[in-house]
Amino acid sequence: MTAKLEQSTVLVVGAGIMGSGIAQIAAQAGHPVLLFDVQSGAAEAAREKLVGTFAKLVAKGKFSNESAAQTLSRIETIDSLDRATSVALIVEAIIEEIDIKRDLFRQLEAIVSGECVFATNTSSISVSAIANGLQQPERLVGMHFFNPVALMQLVEVVSGLQTSPAVAESIFRLAESWGKVPVHARSTPGFIVNRIARPFYAETLALLQEQASTPARLDACLRAAGFRMGPCELMDLIGHDTNLAVTRSVYAANYYDKRFTPSPVQQELVDGGLLGRKSGRGFYDYEAPNPETETATPVADTLPSTERLCVHGRGRAAERFVKLLDRYSAKFKRIESSDWCGLQVGDARLSQTDGRPAGRLGREVAVFDLSLADDSGGELAWSHAAAASEQWIFEASQWLAVCGFRPQQIADTPGLVVARTLAMLINEAADAVNQGVCSEEAADAAMKLGVHYPAGPFEWLASWNVNTIINLLDQLDNWYRGERYRISPWLRQQAWQEADE
Ligand code: NAD
Repeated sequence: MTAKLEQSTVLVVGAGIMGSGIAQIAAQAGHPVLLFDVQSGAAEAAREKLVGTFAKLVAKGKFSNESAAQTLSRIETIDSLDRATSVALIVEAIIEEIDIKRDLFRQLEAIVSGECVFATNTSSISVSAIANGLQQPERLVGMHFFNPVALMQLVEVVSGLQTSPAVAESIFRLAESWGKVPVHARSTPGFIVNRIARPFYAETLALLQEQASTPARLDACLRAAGFRMGPCELMDLIGHDTNLAVTRSVYAANYYDKRFTPSPVQQELVDGGLLGRKSGRGFYDYEAPNPETETATPVADTLPSTERLCVHGRGRAAERFVKLLDRYSAKFKRIESSDWCGLQVGDARLSQTDGRPAGRLGREVAVFDLSLADDSGGELAWSHAAAASEQWIFEASQWLAVCGFRPQQIADTPGLVVARTLAMLINEAADAVNQGVCSEEAADAAMKLGVHYPAGPFEWLASWNVNTIINLLDQLDNWYRGERYRISPWLRQQAWQEADE
């Protein structure tokens, strides 16, 4: 089945948040659009709202009066699907209920031609399942837009078991012509973004559950790693009910794979009605006069000690210590071949996390998190062995501060914050690729454009080291046991390939 969709008439079914946005961008791309909603008056109300949207766009200089009027003139509301006999594409954006979506498409099959392409904007239902029972299941494909449709560039083009490759390709090209960045995905729970993003929330929720730190500190550490928002503030923005529902649906659809287990911390927030910004309170209290701020962090402008200094290992963290010690003309030894990376001060050790808590590494030990910042420091999580002396605890934080970081002490947990979160995001992306859900490039594009990650998981992998990640996940697995931190076969194969090269 091939489809010529450019400039053809598009029927958008469902005139809610997503449907009205889809109608807008289709009309902007030059398509005549028919907009239908089962609720009487809803399509007209959505069109009326678009009149307001275009008035604002004209005021901002993004559209001329004339082109706004022309675009709006292309959007026609209809009160019966029977008027849609000659459309070439249907984009469905109705309620997220499989039976209702199935019924709708079956009804439409009796109205439109055999050439018409069916696209569903479902965010969580199997595309194969929606197509089940259609006379031509090969014509149905997922066209998963992100909210707000007009601003978000990503479109996941989701193929079910019976979707024709030509149909998926024509929707891919159409999305491009609408100014979007499409990525191909196979219909599996959560598609790409909603699946790979799970650990971003889950690792922070796990740290909160074991009382490792506070939402403000964890958010600050992940913001310093380049994320626009920390997980707690982001969950507050999305709404804990919505975020939990997505986690639950991915968890259930994976037959309760422990990797996706929802968090009791979030469940408690939902049960208590603390849904986030929309209810005034979630992790943060949005009605409080002084919102929670991060705790004061040490500042240091001289080296805490010059006693027997040695920089161990290789990589960005080691280079940072070398640069620092050079700046102060301090005498130090350099052992690049060490199996750990960090700074030795006398008998004490300040080491970059390899997944083991500080307490597993010795007495006078502190560990610090992965830093993605090149020169700017920002918040950096660190922890120390319970047995460490007061003197070393003080000095360790001063060393991080003099390196330019704002050290955030957390409980002595494996993998700290950023290292653990990134390793799990990479692991999930690797599994998605291993299971044929998407390509590496699609995963990177999807995470950058769908949830604004500062880099894609495979870009992180390229700048980190596959063995370091495997080791870190192994340490987490050793510590916690269970299935959560199991390593993707794709990562292991990658490590073998690198070893062979
Ligand atoms: P919404 O509640 O804002 O709008 C849904 C609209 O569909 C309503 O106006 C409703 O009256 C109408 N409707 C319900 N049943 C219908 C039927 N049988 N025929 C015609 N119209 C019908 O919902 P939304 O947020 O726009 O979501 C729509 C779809 O898009 C869902 O599948 C959702 O999972 C998906 N989605 C939502 C988002 C988001 O952030 N809101 C993002 C991506 C995908």
